[in-house]
Amino acid sequence: MAAALLAGVLGLVGACARVPPDPSPRWTPAVGVETAVAPTPAVTSAGVGASLRMVSSEVISGFDLSVDEHLQSGRHSYVALPRIAGLEAWTQRMRDDRADQVDRFLHSSVTGESDRELIVSWDVVAASPEVVGFRLSTAEMGEGRYLGTAETTWYDLSTRTVRAAEDLLAPEARQAALDRLGAAAQAEPLVVGERLLGQLDRGLGGFRSIAFTPSGALWFEFDRARLFDVMDPLGVAIDPTGLLSAFGENARRAALQPRDPGPLRASPSASTSRAPTPRPSGTPKPPDARPAPPVKVNCAKRKCVALTFDDGPVSETSQLLDLLADKGVRATFFTIGSHVQSHPEIIRRMVADGHVVGNHSLKHPDLTRLAAPAIRKELATTTDLIRRAAGIRPTLMRPPFGSTNRTVGAVAHELGLAQVLWSVDPLDWKDRDADVVARRVLSQARPGSIILSHDIHATTRRAYRRIIDGLRAKGFVLVTVPQLFGRKLAPGAIYSHR
Ligand code: ZN
Repeated sequence: MAAALLAGVLGLVGACARVPPDPSPRWTPAVGVETAVAPTPAVTSAGVGASLRMVSSEVISGFDLSVDEHLQSGRHSYVALPRIAGLEAWTQRMRDDRADQVDRFLHSSVTGESDRELIVSWDVVAASPEVVGFRLSTAEMGEGRYLGTAETTWYDLSTRTVRAAEDLLAPEARQAALDRLGAAAQAEPLVVGERLLGQLDRGLGGFRSIAFTPSGALWFEFDRARLFDVMDPLGVAIDPTGLLSAFGENARRAALQPRDPGPLRASPSASTSRAPTPRPSGTPKPPDARPAPPVKVNCAKRKCVALTFDDGPVSETSQLLDLLADKGVRATFFTIGSHVQSHPEIIRRMVADGHVVGNHSLKHPDLTRLAAPAIRKELATTTDLIRRAAGIRPTLMRPPFGSTNRTVGAVAHELGLAQVLWSVDPLDWKDRDADVVARRVLSQARPGSIILSHDIHATTRRAYRRIIDGLRAKGFVLVTVPQLFGRKLAPGAIYSHR
């Protein structure tokens, strides 16, 4: 590293080695459909105040995601990763790369507090027929610490190869990029000097998360290891002029003017003749789902139970919706904001079929570990995503893991969300066995029960054919959570059964 840069950075340590209270406003949340084409980028000022450009996963027609969750002696892992038809080798590699980390996390022995959490989540940062880019973020919490790291991974569709973040830069421009980065960082008051030093010492290899800002500047992310309640990306931006490789130029266009990569099953040789299929900018928003009228059920007099499904939607949630439609059952879905964004059509169908859609946070963190602004963002962003998808505003939320406290309750109250827990837990995420899940639900259901399940598991979806018939055979009426209580639930209050 250049001596001048080192001196500059060292000067920074004394100046702003202070953790800011809440840098979250710097991040532009990826809400709504961002298919609109950005104006021609004119990078006037790089550095301060820049934020990361995120793209809606709706742009990618073959997009889906998979979720995996484990709980083991006080360790909870929640891993959500993309899955793209035609790019399975790449998306599987993302999964494999994290499998070791999850395994280490679940099996590491530590003394002291054993209640710990690992969350892996994703954002699309670029999409086009030439390039697709993801930012994968990992947050490990517990034992009084928060370790947040991220990387961007890129796929070059013209050569069908996976590219690392630093491939965005031309090899001969890397030193210039480092110099520019050091200078930009000095102007960034949020950067903690020591941490920046550690990252810069590793050269560009220290920056595994590189992407673009909404104005097209190059964006370098910092480790967030010491910011306990910050889930958001934190970084600085630099002027990309003269720094990008040809691949990087394609990636920048894919970030600023995202387009559907198109059918990806084509062989590499066919890719050159493939016509790009850009969606027109300003794609009209689909009409709001028209909710089916609620059915009147008096649960004070009848044996009611409420079926609730968490952590979706995933594409297979449609199979469960088919089953529920087939059986004439209405249920309550606590949906994850980042998944709502991937499958707004499923949210619209839920509403149209008469189901109730609730809020299960944006990225499934344990909300009790977060400060109020971060909790607010998790819930408010998800409410907004549901509203944009289906035109309804949720009035119910379920805190991830059922973990709540006064702060979570206060934020839920402020956002008009009642907290819905459960009274029957078949542990369907743990025992992936349809028979076991069905047996547990049928033996534990009581009049007024709220039954917890996860529509993301095939075994759970299979179990419900038997569960629905079995509950009805016992005389139960299957209802939504609002029907179970028959009155408006109070925002912030906790409900776990009637
Ligand atoms: Zn959950």
